[in-house]
Amino acid sequence: MNLHTHTDFCDGKSSPEDFVKKAISLEFKYLGFSAHAPLPFLCDWSLPTERLDSYCVEIARLKAHYQKKLQILHGFEIDFLEGMGFPCLTEDAVCGADFFICSIHFLKTPQSAITSPKFAEIDGNYAQFMLAMKSHQYSLKKILSNYLNATEQMILTPLVAGMVKIIGHVDKIVLNATQLPEFEGLSEWFYEELFNILIQHRGHYHSIEINTRALYKKGLSQPYPRYNLLEMLANQNVPLIINSDAHHPSELNAGYKETVERLESLTTINIKNLHYKWLKK
Ligand SMILES: [Zn+2]
Ligand SMILES: [Zn+2]
Repeated sequence: MNLHTHTDFCDGKSSPEDFVKKAISLEFKYLGFSAHAPLPFLCDWSLPTERLDSYCVEIARLKAHYQKKLQILHGFEIDFLEGMGFPCLTEDAVCGADFFICSIHFLKTPQSAITSPKFAEIDGNYAQFMLAMKSHQYSLKKILSNYLNATEQMILTPLVAGMVKIIGHVDKIVLNATQLPEFEGLSEWFYEELFNILIQHRGHYHSIEINTRALYKKGLSQPYPRYNLLEMLANQNVPLIINSDAHHPSELNAGYKETVERLESLTTINIKNLHYKWLKK
């Protein structure tokens, strides 16, 4: 099982069919495709609008062709952009999907007007993050507050009616934020605020993703979000689903074993029960 995958339609490294074959060899029951939906500005890792239809056609073909061996779900990872909501939802093809993973990769810069927002990437390399920090007067507290605010807005912003809404890598900003020494002093506050937002608005999303990419690709010692938050969410019975954010078939279950073992040692939840039979439109 894995609903978070990127193929060569966006920034992944292999065809969707290669992912399907690998998922079958791993005896997955479910495989979801979650291309980065087109963005309203130039971006080298998202699906270009002109490839949107061919992506949908290919996923539909694989779904039908492999239906006896694997349940394939057609999805997108969609960006929340403050002031614009989920801009990709203007595309009919996107709205025909089975599920959405909602993520933040960009923050609106505080100086830009809400009517003509400008965005800074928080998920890129450190230099890009420092550009985002510059627009927040190099204040880590400011950028983390902006991130928390955007996360809350994202959760409260509705999708297409009835659509499955999974919150993707909910503490992603820590990838870059932890490189700054000030993060340690802010971390407790940040996670408390994040937890409160996720609990307060739990009726507005389907589940929170446990994303293992931080572990096997980004050199972090914990998944997104960190174990302390996962433990708190599990204790509140918030639905969690494990994904690897695979960009290559070889990453389809990367980091799963380590994450599951650690979580099961911390909580009473049985992660192996977290499969997707409840994923319905
Ligand atoms: Zn993402
Ligand atoms: Zn992703």
